[in-house]
Amino acid sequence: MFKRLFVSLGLTSLISGIFALIFISHWILVFILAFIIQLVAFYFINTTIENNLIEKAEKIKLEQFVEANKQVAIIECPCGDKNKQEVVMRFDKDIIYQCSKCEKNIKAMINVKPVLTTEPIYFDR
Ligand SMILES: [Zn+2]
Repeated sequence: MFKRLFVSLGLTSLISGIFALIFISHWILVFILAFIIQLVAFYFINTTIENNLIEKAEKIKLEQFVEANKQVAIIECPCGDKNKQEVVMRFDKDIIYQCSKCEKNIKAMINVKPVLTTEPIYFDR
């Protein structure tokens, strides 16, 4: 950790020093200026890289969440070809998918069937 910091500061000083040699009459001033400019520039570059990494990580997390909550049902097309395919099911909107065989648009409806429960079997619910 500290080794990396010293190497980084050393390199920054070295580059500032070499750059300041061009303006040898104002060496100290140019050295300090170059040093500060480098610090600010690297700060912004690092912040941008860090933000990009965080954004990527968040996107991956979101994708995992969506993937984990995906409900898939195997549906047989009513066209008569008996073509079965996996369809992603959702409760919040109409599910319309295209049959992979006849290429017709098929609407899949979810039917919720209420059933009376008996006490001893579903006691914990
Ligand atoms: Zn079909």
